[in-house]
Amino acid sequence: MQCQTGGPTPLARPFGLLGGRTGNLCRCIADFCRGIPVFSQFALHERLLKAVAELKFVEPTPVQLAAIPLALQGKDLRVTAQTGSGKTAAFVLPMLNRLLGDGASQPRMSVRAMILLPTRELAQQTLKEVERFAQFTFLKGGLITGGEDFKVQAAMLRKVDILIGTPGRLIEHANAGNLLLDEVEVLVLDEADRMLDMGFAEDVQRLSELCNADRQTLLFSATSGGAVLREVVGKVLKDPEHLQLNRVSQLNEGTRQQIITADHNHHKERLVEWLLKNETYDKAIIFTNTRVQADRLYGKLVAHDFKTFVLHGEKDQKDRKLAIDRLKQGAVKILVATDVAARGLDVDGLDLVINFDMPRSGDEYVHRIGRTGRAGAEGLAISLICHNDWALMSSIERYLKQRFERRNIKDIKGIYQGPKNLKASGKAVGPKKKKIDPKTGKKLATKKPAAKAPKRNTINRPKPDAPVLVSQDGLAPLKRRALAAE
Ligand code: AMP
Repeated sequence: MQCQTGGPTPLARPFGLLGGRTGNLCRCIADFCRGIPVFSQFALHERLLKAVAELKFVEPTPVQLAAIPLALQGKDLRVTAQTGSGKTAAFVLPMLNRLLGDGASQPRMSVRAMILLPTRELAQQTLKEVERFAQFTFLKGGLITGGEDFKVQAAMLRKVDILIGTPGRLIEHANAGNLLLDEVEVLVLDEADRMLDMGFAEDVQRLSELCNADRQTLLFSATSGGAVLREVVGKVLKDPEHLQLNRVSQLNEGTRQQIITADHNHHKERLVEWLLKNETYDKAIIFTNTRVQADRLYGKLVAHDFKTFVLHGEKDQKDRKLAIDRLKQGAVKILVATDVAARGLDVDGLDLVINFDMPRSGDEYVHRIGRTGRAGAEGLAISLICHNDWALMSSIERYLKQRFERRNIKDIKGIYQGPKNLKASGKAVGPKKKKIDPKTGKKLATKKPAAKAPKRNTINRPKPDAPVLVSQDGLAPLKRRALAAE
Protein backbone atom coordinates (compact mmCIF):
# COMPACT_ATOMS: atom_id res chain seq x y z
CA MET A 1 0.00 0.00 0.00
CA GLN A 2 1.25 3.43 -0.81
CA CYS A 3 1.16 6.07 1.86
CA GLN A 4 0.16 9.58 0.87
CA THR A 5 0.18 12.74 2.90
CA GLY A 6 0.76 16.35 2.09
CA GLY A 7 3.61 16.54 4.58
CA PRO A 8 7.35 16.27 4.12
CA THR A 9 8.92 12.76 4.07
CA PRO A 10 7.10 11.47 7.07
CA LEU A 11 8.62 8.05 7.22
CA ALA A 12 11.97 9.66 7.93
CA ARG A 13 10.53 10.21 11.43
CA PRO A 14 11.39 7.58 14.00
CA PHE A 15 7.94 6.39 15.09
CA GLY A 16 9.51 4.53 18.00
CA LEU A 17 10.01 7.89 19.70
CA LEU A 18 6.29 8.38 20.17
CA GLY A 19 6.48 7.50 23.82
CA GLY A 20 7.07 3.80 23.20
CA ARG A 21 3.31 3.18 23.19
CA THR A 22 2.58 0.38 20.80
CA GLY A 23 -1.10 1.35 20.51
CA ASN A 24 -0.28 4.93 19.75
CA LEU A 25 2.45 3.93 17.33
CA CYS A 26 0.13 1.56 15.43
CA ARG A 27 -2.57 4.22 15.31
CA CYS A 28 -0.12 6.82 13.98
CA ILE A 29 1.10 4.49 11.26
CA ALA A 30 -2.46 3.53 10.36
CA ASP A 31 -3.59 7.20 10.29
CA PHE A 32 -0.56 8.13 8.28
CA CYS A 33 -1.23 5.42 5.69
CA ARG A 34 -4.88 6.50 5.41
CA GLY A 35 -3.70 10.02 4.59
CA ILE A 36 -4.86 11.42 7.97
CA PRO A 37 -2.42 14.10 9.13
CA VAL A 38 -0.21 13.16 12.08
CA PHE A 39 2.35 15.14 14.08
CA SER A 40 5.21 12.98 12.88
CA GLN A 41 4.81 14.45 9.40
CA PHE A 42 6.30 17.70 10.72
CA ALA A 43 10.06 17.97 10.78
CA LEU A 44 10.00 18.36 14.57
CA HIS A 45 12.74 17.32 16.98
CA GLU A 46 12.26 13.82 18.37
CA ARG A 47 11.97 15.15 21.94
CA LEU A 48 9.06 17.33 20.92
CA LEU A 49 7.32 14.47 19.14
CA LYS A 50 7.77 12.43 22.27
CA ALA A 51 6.05 15.15 24.31
CA VAL A 52 3.23 15.40 21.76
CA ALA A 53 2.67 11.66 22.08
CA GLU A 54 2.83 11.86 25.86
CA LEU A 55 0.06 14.49 25.74
CA LYS A 56 -1.94 12.10 23.52
CA PHE A 57 -2.25 14.61 20.70
CA VAL A 58 -2.81 12.44 17.65
CA GLU A 59 -4.08 14.58 14.81
CA PRO A 60 -2.89 18.17 14.31
CA THR A 61 -5.66 20.79 14.26
CA PRO A 62 -6.12 22.93 11.09
CA VAL A 63 -4.14 25.84 12.53
CA GLN A 64 -1.30 23.50 13.48
CA LEU A 65 -1.33 21.95 10.00
CA ALA A 66 -1.16 25.37 8.36
CA ALA A 67 1.26 27.17 10.67
CA ILE A 68 3.81 24.59 11.87
CA PRO A 69 5.50 23.84 8.49
CA LEU A 70 5.84 27.56 7.62
CA ALA A 71 7.05 28.47 11.09
CA LEU A 72 9.62 25.66 10.89
CA GLN A 73 10.95 27.29 7.71
CA GLY A 74 11.63 30.40 9.78
CA LYS A 75 8.94 32.57 8.18
CA ASP A 76 7.19 35.42 9.97
CA LEU A 77 3.49 34.59 10.33
CA ARG A 78 0.33 36.50 10.96
CA VAL A 79 -2.32 33.94 11.93
CA THR A 80 -6.00 34.60 12.47
CA ALA A 81 -7.38 31.70 14.48
CA GLN A 82 -9.95 31.39 17.22
CA THR A 83 -9.16 30.66 20.84
CA GLY A 84 -9.43 26.93 21.45
CA SER A 85 -8.23 26.00 17.96
CA GLY A 86 -4.92 24.60 19.21
CA LYS A 87 -2.97 27.72 18.26
CA THR A 88 -0.65 27.56 21.30
CA ALA A 89 0.97 24.35 20.03
CA ALA A 90 1.10 25.94 16.56
CA PHE A 91 3.66 28.47 17.82
CA VAL A 92 5.21 26.68 20.81
CA LEU A 93 6.34 23.57 18.87
CA PRO A 94 8.22 25.42 16.07
CA MET A 95 9.65 27.83 18.65
CA LEU A 96 11.02 24.99 20.81
CA ASN A 97 12.26 23.24 17.69
CA ARG A 98 14.32 26.28 16.73
CA LEU A 99 15.80 26.57 20.23
CA LEU A 100 16.68 22.88 20.19
CA GLY A 101 18.21 23.08 16.77
CA ASP A 102 21.70 24.14 17.72
CA GLY A 103 24.05 23.87 20.69
CA ALA A 104 21.61 21.76 22.67
CA SER A 105 23.92 21.55 25.66
CA GLN A 106 25.24 25.12 25.76
CA PRO A 107 24.91 26.92 29.08
CA ARG A 108 22.00 29.33 29.30
CA MET A 109 23.22 32.89 28.59
CA SER A 110 20.11 34.95 27.94
CA VAL A 111 16.51 34.90 26.85
CA ARG A 112 16.13 33.23 23.44
CA ALA A 113 12.38 33.43 22.90
CA MET A 114 9.63 35.68 24.22
CA ILE A 115 5.85 35.24 24.21
CA LEU A 116 3.70 38.32 24.90
CA LEU A 117 0.10 37.92 26.04
CA PRO A 118 -2.57 40.33 27.24
CA THR A 119 -3.37 38.87 30.68
CA ARG A 120 -1.71 37.10 33.59
CA GLU A 121 -4.05 34.12 33.34
CA LEU A 122 -3.22 33.61 29.69
CA ALA A 123 0.48 33.94 30.42
CA GLN A 124 0.21 31.32 33.19
CA GLN A 125 -1.66 28.94 30.89
CA THR A 126 0.89 29.44 28.13
CA LEU A 127 3.78 28.75 30.50
CA LYS A 128 2.10 25.44 31.40
CA GLU A 129 1.76 24.55 27.71
CA VAL A 130 5.43 25.43 27.09
CA GLU A 131 6.46 23.25 30.03
CA ARG A 132 4.35 20.35 28.74
CA PHE A 133 5.90 20.47 25.28
CA ALA A 134 9.43 21.08 26.63
CA GLN A 135 9.24 18.29 29.24
CA PHE A 136 11.90 16.14 27.47
CA THR A 137 14.24 19.05 26.77
CA PHE A 138 16.53 21.24 28.85
CA LEU A 139 14.62 24.38 27.83
CA LYS A 140 13.18 26.45 30.66
CA GLY A 141 10.31 28.93 30.64
CA GLY A 142 9.71 31.81 33.05
CA LEU A 143 6.74 34.05 33.80
CA ILE A 144 6.84 37.85 34.07
CA THR A 145 3.47 39.41 34.93
CA GLY A 146 2.23 42.12 37.26
CA GLY A 147 1.28 41.30 40.82
CA GLU A 148 4.43 39.26 41.54
CA ASP A 149 7.68 40.21 43.30
CA PHE A 150 9.79 42.44 41.04
CA LYS A 151 13.19 41.44 42.50
CA VAL A 152 12.44 37.72 42.32
CA GLN A 153 11.46 38.22 38.69
CA ALA A 154 14.65 40.19 37.95
CA ALA A 155 16.76 37.31 39.30
CA MET A 156 14.75 34.75 37.32
CA LEU A 157 15.25 36.67 34.05
CA ARG A 158 18.83 35.43 33.84
CA LYS A 159 17.87 31.80 34.18
CA VAL A 160 15.29 31.20 31.49
CA ASP A 161 15.33 30.46 27.76
CA ILE A 162 11.72 31.41 27.11
CA LEU A 163 10.13 34.44 28.64
CA ILE A 164 6.35 34.53 28.85
CA GLY A 165 4.69 37.68 30.05
CA THR A 166 2.43 40.69 29.81
CA PRO A 167 3.83 43.83 28.13
CA GLY A 168 3.35 46.24 31.07
CA ARG A 169 5.56 44.39 33.56
CA LEU A 170 8.13 43.50 30.90
CA ILE A 171 8.51 47.20 30.06
CA GLU A 172 9.07 47.94 33.76
CA HIS A 173 11.93 45.41 33.73
CA ALA A 174 13.29 46.92 30.51
CA ASN A 175 13.24 50.38 32.14
CA ALA A 176 15.05 49.00 35.18
CA GLY A 177 17.75 47.57 32.88
CA ASN A 178 16.88 43.96 33.78
CA LEU A 179 15.79 42.82 30.36
CA LEU A 180 18.29 41.73 27.75
CA LEU A 181 16.52 40.71 24.58
CA ASP A 182 19.22 40.98 21.93
CA GLU A 183 19.56 37.18 21.77
CA VAL A 184 15.83 36.65 21.16
CA GLU A 185 15.40 34.42 18.11
CA VAL A 186 11.63 34.00 18.23
CA LEU A 187 9.07 36.60 19.31
CA VAL A 188 5.42 35.55 19.65
CA LEU A 189 2.54 38.00 20.04
CA ASP A 190 -0.45 35.93 21.12
CA GLU A 191 -4.02 37.28 21.32
CA ALA A 192 -2.51 40.33 19.63
CA ASP A 193 -5.89 41.93 18.82
CA ARG A 194 -6.85 41.88 22.48
CA MET A 195 -3.42 43.05 23.61
CA LEU A 196 -3.71 46.11 21.36
CA ASP A 197 -7.33 46.74 22.39
CA MET A 198 -6.05 46.92 25.96
CA GLY A 199 -3.69 49.74 24.99
CA PHE A 200 -0.41 47.81 24.78
CA ALA A 201 0.51 48.83 21.19
CA GLU A 202 3.39 51.10 22.21
CA ASP A 203 4.80 48.61 24.75
CA VAL A 204 4.61 45.77 22.22
CA GLN A 205 6.49 47.82 19.63
CA ARG A 206 9.13 48.85 22.12
CA LEU A 207 9.70 45.31 23.31
CA SER A 208 9.97 44.06 19.72
CA GLU A 209 12.59 46.75 19.00
CA LEU A 210 14.66 45.41 21.91
CA CYS A 211 14.70 41.93 20.33
CA ASN A 212 17.31 40.77 17.85
CA ALA A 213 16.58 42.27 14.42
CA ASP A 214 17.03 38.84 12.75
CA ARG A 215 14.43 37.17 14.92
CA GLN A 216 11.35 35.35 13.68
CA THR A 217 8.01 36.91 14.69
CA LEU A 218 4.74 35.00 14.97
CA LEU A 219 1.57 36.99 15.55
CA PHE A 220 -1.70 35.26 16.49
CA SER A 221 -5.08 36.92 16.86
CA ALA A 222 -8.63 35.64 17.18
CA THR A 223 -9.98 38.32 14.84
CA SER A 224 -8.59 40.14 11.82
CA GLY A 225 -8.28 43.24 14.05
CA GLY A 226 -8.35 46.91 13.11
CA ALA A 227 -6.01 49.69 12.04
CA VAL A 228 -3.76 49.40 15.12
CA LEU A 229 -3.17 45.70 14.47
CA ARG A 230 -2.34 46.44 10.82
CA GLU A 231 0.12 49.11 11.94
CA VAL A 232 1.83 46.74 14.39
CA VAL A 233 1.97 44.00 11.73
CA GLY A 234 3.66 46.51 9.37
CA LYS A 235 6.22 47.57 11.97
CA VAL A 236 7.00 44.32 13.79
CA LEU A 237 6.72 41.55 11.16
CA LYS A 238 8.90 41.03 8.09
CA ASP A 239 7.13 39.99 4.92
CA PRO A 240 4.70 37.79 6.84
CA GLU A 241 2.52 34.98 5.49
CA HIS A 242 -1.09 35.65 6.47
CA LEU A 243 -2.93 32.48 7.45
CA GLN A 244 -6.65 32.94 7.97
CA LEU A 245 -8.07 29.94 9.75
CA ASN A 246 -11.74 29.78 10.64
CA ARG A 247 -13.32 32.94 9.38
CA VAL A 248 -15.45 34.55 12.07
CA SER A 249 -18.67 33.21 10.54
CA GLN A 250 -17.44 29.63 10.89
CA LEU A 251 -16.41 29.88 14.51
CA ASN A 252 -17.29 27.30 17.11
CA GLU A 253 -19.13 24.85 14.96
CA GLY A 254 -19.52 22.61 18.00
CA THR A 255 -21.38 25.33 19.91
CA ARG A 256 -25.15 25.85 19.68
CA GLN A 257 -26.05 29.50 19.91
CA GLN A 258 -29.41 30.53 21.37
CA ILE A 259 -31.21 33.65 22.54
CA ILE A 260 -33.87 33.97 25.22
CA THR A 261 -35.81 37.24 25.48
CA ALA A 262 -36.15 38.89 28.88
CA ASP A 263 -38.18 41.78 30.28
CA HIS A 264 -35.52 43.32 32.54
CA ASN A 265 -32.40 42.46 34.56
CA HIS A 266 -34.39 40.86 37.37
CA HIS A 267 -36.01 38.57 34.80
CA LYS A 268 -32.56 37.78 33.41
CA GLU A 269 -31.41 36.76 36.90
CA ARG A 270 -34.33 34.32 37.17
CA LEU A 271 -33.50 32.93 33.73
CA VAL A 272 -29.87 32.38 34.76
CA GLU A 273 -30.97 30.50 37.89
CA TRP A 274 -33.35 28.35 35.85
CA LEU A 275 -30.66 27.55 33.28
CA LEU A 276 -28.08 26.66 35.91
CA LYS A 277 -30.60 24.34 37.59
CA ASN A 278 -31.98 22.71 34.46
CA GLU A 279 -29.31 22.64 31.77
CA THR A 280 -26.87 19.75 31.54
CA TYR A 281 -23.35 21.13 31.78
CA ASP A 282 -20.01 20.40 33.27
CA LYS A 283 -18.86 23.98 33.87
CA ALA A 284 -20.56 27.29 33.11
CA ILE A 285 -19.42 30.88 32.68
CA ILE A 286 -21.77 33.87 32.82
CA PHE A 287 -20.63 37.13 31.26
CA THR A 288 -21.75 40.57 32.36
CA ASN A 289 -20.63 43.89 30.90
CA THR A 290 -19.93 45.56 34.24
CA ARG A 291 -18.26 44.71 37.53
CA VAL A 292 -21.32 45.95 39.44
CA GLN A 293 -23.60 43.55 37.56
CA ALA A 294 -21.10 40.70 38.00
CA ASP A 295 -21.03 41.23 41.79
CA ARG A 296 -24.82 41.56 41.93
CA LEU A 297 -25.44 38.35 40.00
CA TYR A 298 -22.78 36.54 42.02
CA GLY A 299 -24.57 37.60 45.22
CA LYS A 300 -27.92 36.32 43.90
CA LEU A 301 -26.46 32.97 42.87
CA VAL A 302 -24.69 32.46 46.18
CA ALA A 303 -27.96 33.30 47.95
CA HIS A 304 -29.58 30.51 45.93
CA ASP A 305 -26.88 28.02 47.01
CA PHE A 306 -24.97 27.88 43.73
CA LYS A 307 -21.23 27.27 44.23
CA THR A 308 -19.90 30.22 42.28
CA PHE A 309 -16.87 32.46 41.84
CA VAL A 310 -16.76 35.97 40.46
CA LEU A 311 -13.89 37.31 38.36
CA HIS A 312 -13.45 40.94 37.38
CA GLY A 313 -10.78 43.63 37.15
CA GLU A 314 -11.11 44.71 40.78
CA LYS A 315 -10.34 41.24 42.13
CA ASP A 316 -6.75 40.85 43.27
CA GLN A 317 -4.39 38.28 41.78
CA LYS A 318 -4.89 35.79 44.62
CA ASP A 319 -8.68 35.74 44.20
CA ARG A 320 -8.36 35.41 40.43
CA LYS A 321 -5.96 32.49 40.73
CA LEU A 322 -8.15 30.81 43.33
CA ALA A 323 -11.25 31.20 41.12
CA ILE A 324 -9.53 29.70 38.07
CA ASP A 325 -7.90 26.86 40.02
CA ARG A 326 -11.18 25.89 41.71
CA LEU A 327 -12.97 25.94 38.37
CA LYS A 328 -10.27 23.82 36.76
CA GLN A 329 -10.34 21.31 39.61
CA GLY A 330 -14.12 21.14 39.39
CA ALA A 331 -14.65 22.26 43.01
CA VAL A 332 -16.73 25.10 41.57
CA LYS A 333 -18.82 24.76 38.42
CA ILE A 334 -19.93 28.31 37.83
CA LEU A 335 -18.00 31.49 37.15
CA VAL A 336 -19.46 34.99 36.77
CA ALA A 337 -17.01 37.20 34.87
CA THR A 338 -16.44 40.36 32.90
CA ASP A 339 -14.67 40.16 29.53
CA VAL A 340 -11.19 41.30 30.50
CA ALA A 341 -11.06 38.99 33.51
CA ALA A 342 -12.05 35.92 31.50
CA ARG A 343 -9.91 36.60 28.47
CA GLY A 344 -8.13 33.52 27.13
CA LEU A 345 -9.39 31.31 29.93
CA ASP A 346 -8.77 27.69 28.93
CA VAL A 347 -10.72 25.46 31.25
CA ASP A 348 -11.49 21.90 30.19
CA GLY A 349 -15.17 21.02 30.18
CA LEU A 350 -16.44 24.62 30.02
CA ASP A 351 -19.55 23.81 28.01
CA LEU A 352 -22.10 26.49 28.90
CA VAL A 353 -21.67 30.22 28.23
CA ILE A 354 -24.43 32.63 29.24
CA ASN A 355 -24.33 36.23 28.06
CA PHE A 356 -26.23 38.03 30.82
CA ASP A 357 -25.44 41.22 28.89
CA MET A 358 -24.89 41.13 25.17
CA PRO A 359 -21.22 41.82 24.36
CA ARG A 360 -20.63 45.20 22.73
CA SER A 361 -19.15 43.85 19.51
CA GLY A 362 -19.12 40.79 17.28
CA ASP A 363 -15.47 40.17 18.09
CA GLU A 364 -16.17 40.23 21.82
CA TYR A 365 -19.00 37.74 21.24
CA VAL A 366 -16.58 35.46 19.39
CA HIS A 367 -14.10 35.70 22.26
CA ARG A 368 -16.77 34.86 24.81
CA ILE A 369 -18.20 31.84 23.08
CA GLY A 370 -14.64 30.76 22.26
CA ARG A 371 -14.58 29.59 25.90
CA THR A 372 -16.84 26.70 24.94
CA GLY A 373 -16.77 24.11 22.17
CA ARG A 374 -12.97 24.07 22.42
CA ALA A 375 -10.91 21.58 20.41
CA GLY A 376 -14.03 20.17 18.79
CA ALA A 377 -16.07 19.64 22.01
CA GLU A 378 -19.83 20.37 22.17
CA GLY A 379 -20.96 23.61 23.80
CA LEU A 380 -23.99 25.82 24.35
CA ALA A 381 -23.99 29.64 24.28
CA ILE A 382 -27.15 31.44 25.45
CA SER A 383 -27.65 35.22 25.20
CA LEU A 384 -30.34 36.92 27.28
CA ILE A 385 -31.97 39.70 25.28
CA CYS A 386 -33.97 42.66 26.63
CA HIS A 387 -35.51 45.18 24.25
CA ASN A 388 -32.37 47.35 24.46
CA ASP A 389 -30.12 44.39 23.55
CA TRP A 390 -32.03 43.48 20.38
CA ALA A 391 -30.31 45.84 17.90
CA LEU A 392 -26.86 44.73 19.12
CA MET A 393 -27.84 41.06 18.96
CA SER A 394 -29.14 41.35 15.41
CA SER A 395 -26.02 43.23 14.29
CA ILE A 396 -23.88 40.41 15.76
CA GLU A 397 -26.00 37.87 13.87
CA ARG A 398 -25.32 39.80 10.66
CA TYR A 399 -21.60 40.04 11.47
CA LEU A 400 -21.38 36.28 12.02
CA LYS A 401 -23.76 35.54 9.14
CA GLN A 402 -25.65 33.27 11.52
CA ARG A 403 -29.12 33.31 13.00
CA PHE A 404 -29.24 32.36 16.65
CA GLU A 405 -31.81 29.81 17.71
CA ARG A 406 -34.84 31.46 19.43
CA ARG A 407 -35.73 29.74 22.67
CA ASN A 408 -38.43 30.21 25.32
CA ILE A 409 -38.56 28.88 28.84
CA LYS A 410 -42.22 28.15 29.51
CA ASP A 411 -42.07 28.42 33.31
CA ILE A 412 -40.68 31.97 33.29
CA LYS A 413 -41.62 33.32 29.91
CA GLY A 414 -41.62 37.11 29.85
CA ILE A 415 -43.81 39.59 28.03
CA TYR A 416 -41.09 40.84 25.71
CA GLN A 417 -40.69 38.50 22.76
CA GLY A 418 -38.63 40.70 20.45
CA PRO A 419 -39.80 43.56 18.26
CA LYS A 420 -43.19 43.15 16.61
CA ASN A 421 -42.02 44.46 13.27
CA LEU A 422 -38.64 43.57 11.92
CA LYS A 423 -36.72 45.00 9.00
CA ALA A 424 -35.17 42.59 6.53
CA SER A 425 -31.89 43.15 8.43
CA GLY A 426 -33.43 41.73 11.63
CA LYS A 427 -33.49 45.15 13.35
CA ALA A 428 -36.67 46.46 14.92
CA VAL A 429 -38.71 48.92 12.86
CA GLY A 430 -38.51 52.08 14.97
CA PRO A 431 -40.54 55.32 14.92
CA LYS A 432 -39.69 57.62 12.03
CA LYS A 433 -36.78 59.89 12.84
CA LYS A 434 -37.54 63.61 13.08
CA LYS A 435 -35.85 65.71 10.46
CA ILE A 436 -33.10 68.04 11.69
CA ASP A 437 -32.37 71.39 10.04
CA PRO A 438 -28.71 71.07 8.94
CA LYS A 439 -28.17 74.84 9.47
CA THR A 440 -29.66 75.31 12.94
CA GLY A 441 -29.39 71.72 14.20
CA LYS A 442 -32.97 72.11 15.45
CA LYS A 443 -35.81 69.75 14.75
CA LEU A 444 -37.83 70.85 11.79
CA ALA A 445 -41.44 71.59 12.63
CA THR A 446 -43.57 68.94 11.12
CA LYS A 447 -46.29 70.46 9.01
CA LYS A 448 -49.80 69.53 9.89
CA PRO A 449 -51.04 67.30 7.17
CA ALA A 450 -53.16 69.28 4.79
CA ALA A 451 -56.81 68.48 4.54
CA LYS A 452 -57.17 65.41 2.46
CA ALA A 453 -57.00 66.42 -1.14
CA PRO A 454 -59.67 64.90 -3.27
CA LYS A 455 -58.43 61.99 -5.21
CA ARG A 456 -57.65 62.82 -8.76
CA ASN A 457 -59.11 60.85 -11.56
CA THR A 458 -62.07 59.93 -9.42
CA ILE A 459 -63.89 62.93 -7.89
CA ASN A 460 -62.40 65.41 -10.35
CA ARG A 461 -63.04 63.36 -13.34
CA PRO A 462 -66.16 64.65 -14.94
CA LYS A 463 -68.90 62.16 -15.02
CA PRO A 464 -69.95 61.25 -18.50
CA ASP A 465 -73.00 63.47 -18.17
CA ALA A 466 -71.36 66.28 -16.19
CA PRO A 467 -70.62 69.68 -17.69
CA VAL A 468 -67.05 70.05 -19.06
CA LEU A 469 -65.00 73.15 -18.26
CA VAL A 470 -63.90 74.94 -21.33
CA SER A 471 -61.99 78.24 -21.42
CA GLN A 472 -63.25 81.17 -23.32
CA ASP A 473 -60.10 81.30 -25.40
CA GLY A 474 -60.06 77.56 -25.87
CA LEU A 475 -56.79 77.05 -23.82
CA ALA A 476 -57.91 76.19 -20.30
CA PRO A 477 -61.19 74.86 -19.06
CA LEU A 478 -62.86 77.67 -17.10
CA LYS A 479 -66.56 77.45 -17.64
CA ARG A 480 -68.85 74.54 -17.44
CA ARG A 481 -70.82 73.72 -20.41
CA ALA A 482 -73.32 70.99 -20.40
CA LEU A 483 -72.17 68.14 -22.53
CA ALA A 484 -75.68 67.68 -23.51
CA ALA A 485 -75.64 71.17 -24.99
CA GLU A 486 -72.93 70.30 -27.48
P1 AMP B 1 -5.42 26.43 22.46
O1 AMP B 1 -6.23 26.96 21.30
O2 AMP B 1 -3.98 26.40 22.13
O3 AMP B 1 -5.74 27.16 23.72
O4 AMP B 1 -5.82 24.88 22.68
C1 AMP B 1 -7.05 24.49 23.19
C2 AMP B 1 -6.98 23.11 23.83
O5 AMP B 1 -6.82 22.10 22.85
C3 AMP B 1 -5.81 22.95 24.80
O6 AMP B 1 -6.30 22.33 25.97
C4 AMP B 1 -4.83 22.06 24.08
O7 AMP B 1 -4.08 21.27 24.96
C5 AMP B 1 -5.75 21.21 23.19
N1 AMP B 1 -5.11 20.78 21.91
C6 AMP B 1 -4.35 21.55 21.11
N2 AMP B 1 -3.96 20.86 20.00
C7 AMP B 1 -4.49 19.63 20.12
C8 AMP B 1 -4.44 18.46 19.29
N3 AMP B 1 -3.80 18.44 18.14
N4 AMP B 1 -5.09 17.36 19.72
C9 AMP B 1 -5.78 17.39 20.89
N5 AMP B 1 -5.87 18.46 21.71
C10 AMP B 1 -5.24 19.57 21.34
